[in-house]
Amino acid sequence: MSALPYALPASDSGSSNLSPACVRPPVAEARRIVVKLGTRVLSEDDGSVAVGRLSSLLATVAALLQNGRQVVMIMSGAVSLGRAVLGLPDVPREGAMRQACAAVGQARMTDLYRRIFDGLGVLSAQVLVVQGDFDDRARRSRLQQALEALINRGVVPVLNENDAVAREGIGRSRPVTFDDNDRLAALVAASTQADLLALLTDVEGVYERDPRDHPDARPLTRVDTAALSVEAGGPGTAESRGGMRSKLAAAEIARGAGCHVVIASGRSAGTFSHLVAGEDRGTWLLPRIPAVDCQPGGTA
Ligand code: GLU
Repeated sequence: MSALPYALPASDSGSSNLSPACVRPPVAEARRIVVKLGTRVLSEDDGSVAVGRLSSLLATVAALLQNGRQVVMIMSGAVSLGRAVLGLPDVPREGAMRQACAAVGQARMTDLYRRIFDGLGVLSAQVLVVQGDFDDRARRSRLQQALEALINRGVVPVLNENDAVAREGIGRSRPVTFDDNDRLAALVAASTQADLLALLTDVEGVYERDPRDHPDARPLTRVDTAALSVEAGGPGTAESRGGMRSKLAAAEIARGAGCHVVIASGRSAGTFSHLVAGEDRGTWLLPRIPAVDCQPGGTA
């Protein structure tokens, strides 16, 4: 991970290649970026895949690669697409039919992004994982090695949970699935030592109050403090198992690993390309600075 300044204003950053609209130099200078596209970003309101939106987001990824950045993607949408293909009225939240939807939808999602990336001259690779790949040190190490090998060849790894085989975690003391892909994205950002995690969703950022209950609530621009105290909601739709609560929990994992996080809308055209340029889009959460050990005999 590159050593980036935490909160320098643009004028103090010393960087000359930043656009005048850049107010987040560490974000603009992030070399390794993990970007998560949620189901609501990848789907239209009628449940069909938002191909135009996906194409535009992948074009931004291609531009980042051209610019010497490294990109790892986390892409949801498999279960939702599988539901539509199988003609089910609702997205199954658990069980064999959810697994079946994932198996049907994943193959189609992979085919879709592979074709779009091919058209952009970008090589992509599918990597399906389960929680156990992070819990077990040897498996986590093999995953990291595979991701590094892909990244170093200029390939964009596209990860998703292997929902066709993942077991539900209900009633267990520790999670056995990711529930949603926010935590997966954070674990990938932490284990690949990414500089930036972009969680793209269907809202403009983190609000002080749940905007579904408080329509006048405004998104926060920046969060520096160690503990973020906001009123965060759960999933907003049946298609997605995430919600702001899971994004903030994921952000804490990534921030603790020294990663900058931006939570922003992946539905608003151009937001992703503006945010990676360090412009004021979504909510920027700065890395948590490790506590200094002031105890006698401590190292600091
Ligand atoms: N892994 C799930 C999928 O690909 C994610 C579901 C969600 O967005 O919560 O469909």
